[in-house]
Amino acid sequence: MQIVEVRVFSNVDKTLHYRVPPDLQIPAVGSLVKVPLMNRWDTGIVLSHTDQVDFDPAKLKNIHSAIFPEPVITRDLLKMVDWIANYYGHSAAQILDAMLPPTLRNPPKAKKIAMLQLTDAGKSLDIDSLPKSAKKQKALLIALRNTAKSVPKLDFLKGQNISTAIAKSLIEKAYLQETFIDSERLGYTDELATMDALKPKAFELSEEQREAVDSIVQAVRMQQFKPTLLHGVTGSGKTEVYVRAIQEILKNPTASALFLVPEVALAPQTVGTLRNRLESEGSKVVVWHSHLSEGERRDSWLKIARGETRIVVGARSAVFTPIQNLKLVVVDEEHEPAYKQDENPRYHGRDIAVYRAKLNNCCCILGSATPSLESLYNVKARKYEVIRLTKRVDDRELPKIHIVDMRLEFRKNKKEEILSQKLKDELQNRLERQEQSILFLNRRGFTKNLICRECGWVAMSPECSIPLTYHQFDHRLRCHISGYEAPAPRQCPECKSKNIHGEGFGTQKVETVVKALLPKARVMRIDTDTMSKKNRLREILADFRKGKIDILVGTQMIAKGLDFPNVTLVSLVNADQSLYMEDFRAAERTFQLLVQVSGRAGRGDRAGEVIIQTSTPHAAPIQFARHSDFDGFLEDEIELRREFNYPPFRHLIRHLIRGPNEDKVRYFAENWRKSLDEKNLDYLDIRGPIPAPIEKINSEYRYQIWYFTNQIIKTIEQLNTLRADFLWEKSITQVLDVDAINLR
Ligand code: ADP
Ligand code: ZN
Repeated sequence: MQIVEVRVFSNVDKTLHYRVPPDLQIPAVGSLVKVPLMNRWDTGIVLSHTDQVDFDPAKLKNIHSAIFPEPVITRDLLKMVDWIANYYGHSAAQILDAMLPPTLRNPPKAKKIAMLQLTDAGKSLDIDSLPKSAKKQKALLIALRNTAKSVPKLDFLKGQNISTAIAKSLIEKAYLQETFIDSERLGYTDELATMDALKPKAFELSEEQREAVDSIVQAVRMQQFKPTLLHGVTGSGKTEVYVRAIQEILKNPTASALFLVPEVALAPQTVGTLRNRLESEGSKVVVWHSHLSEGERRDSWLKIARGETRIVVGARSAVFTPIQNLKLVVVDEEHEPAYKQDENPRYHGRDIAVYRAKLNNCCCILGSATPSLESLYNVKARKYEVIRLTKRVDDRELPKIHIVDMRLEFRKNKKEEILSQKLKDELQNRLERQEQSILFLNRRGFTKNLICRECGWVAMSPECSIPLTYHQFDHRLRCHISGYEAPAPRQCPECKSKNIHGEGFGTQKVETVVKALLPKARVMRIDTDTMSKKNRLREILADFRKGKIDILVGTQMIAKGLDFPNVTLVSLVNADQSLYMEDFRAAERTFQLLVQVSGRAGRGDRAGEVIIQTSTPHAAPIQFARHSDFDGFLEDEIELRREFNYPPFRHLIRHLIRGPNEDKVRYFAENWRKSLDEKNLDYLDIRGPIPAPIEKINSEYRYQIWYFTNQIIKTIEQLNTLRADFLWEKSITQVLDVDAINLR
């Protein structure tokens, strides 16, 4: 008798056995099957085959059918489910949910999908004329104005956290219209396919690149798990190393590769290069990203599962795609916080990629110009190998870095200036020489706050404990977390002074100042507004490449991986913001930011120059970055971490406890801590509770407890048991974040 062990979705923490009726082909491990459960039908995954069970087999029920003829999930992924669940403290159900596209389990009946777009009336409507209470309607209209012509209705509404009823009411008012198209015709993927098509250049690999490729190819041949850090300075040609290594590997007709990037939309050049170089008639690259519609997600998934494609490029969730015969895993920009998922399940894409490589006994490359301290430490501890690319390709030089002390500028000018004299002069020079410049602003510094110069009052969000952002154009205050907004007061609510002003400056302000300074320059701005329009970012970058723009102003989010040969000047306009975040990784982040931003300069024939404007020129990350002294920074920073026993020396689990009533949140957090103390968990170093750096978000108060440990799985298991036994009140939400990155 053929029996299969099945993990049923509605009850995944146990596995169940079923019999395969004689008229059915035995479904392979990893197949989706329809099975009876209690008195209804459910879906499950075949985990294993057997021919006996330790109870009366006559009690077994039959499986009904296989949903697809082939397996939809690979054996290594099945093995990963439990490990990920145990490590991050989630249920296996949550992990499986995160892995499998929902439409795989419940195939959509109709192939038509609803699209949403603004009508002419919706486009020209004065949004402020809607009643105050219509918050969500306004939000939807604004979101649609910021996107391409039409969007898939359900996905889009879900992404915006807006109900279909809101959309319906706007359709009834004729501000929106609904159309239906074939799910196949959504075509986001194709749009990305043509993104920034870079012509393959013919060049010889540098000696360092050659050695790197050889050593990777060698590691692949050995079929040994060997995580390797590819630490290559900016412009050292890391992408080319990946491309050549993958090309080598694809010579084996069944081998496949997984390539992770922090965010597909922010890596247009890398994704474009990979497609251009690796795609051929017979083998397509699958690009796996968050903009895929459910239909596309399902199609791509099946394509990968059937082995029709052997290269998957994508953001963190691509680590869960059913790639067979995995021979190489690449994690590009491995230091990026975007690899950590900030909602459940809170997994780290890079770490899971390493684990998956381990299960496959395959080579895993973590690449970066500014590796995370965790990875550098793993090299030090000899857990990882390292390959260094110390030189830029073509003997190009690393840019010269100037530090400008903005305090001296202030003393000279007696007022706050956004651009130092040095920066102004150099921008002028570049314009005359027809070279290009990029001005970066720190993302956190991109907002303006409303401040009273008499008493120091700052306009704060009533729902979240962060300052409101002041928008000059409509004289309103907005909260960038909860969306709260209100008109800005004309006088200080505290001291009644009229001396209140917007302070801080954003990309917009920098753009204005630069345009006034250099009226002939063609200046273009990239920020969150531009980013939300899908094609706009690509258009701007393409124009910049063609030389139609002289000066690009943007937040650092666009800093990664941009490669424009004619850029000879780069400035980080306000380097201080990230230094003073309440985060023990602040120095590391600042150093990475400075090095990455600097790396955008001097990538062509002409040398590059970097100007860093700061009020704290003596700060260690700034000094180390100035001399591109990676080892110096590492030693300095690792000593600090060792002193406090912070990661990478121990793991950090962050416990966030939140709720609408501050007294209750504190009470439960403190009582929980007390209950832990009574347990004498001596392998655990517990800190807190203390209020989180952002004490309030969306009208919920937030407290945090930190656990330091070297025994994650044991800790998580114990904390989860204790959490389940502890009497939390309904209004309290609490989550554990293993290896937390976002500490806000
Ligand atoms: P990194 O990712 O290390 O910062 P890139 O991979 O972006 O560097 O490469 C920088 C530029 O150098 C790219 O335009 C790439 O096409 C080019 N390049 C790479 N390898 C070579 C080489 N061996 N000779 C000349 N140019 C190269
Ligand atoms: Zn005041």
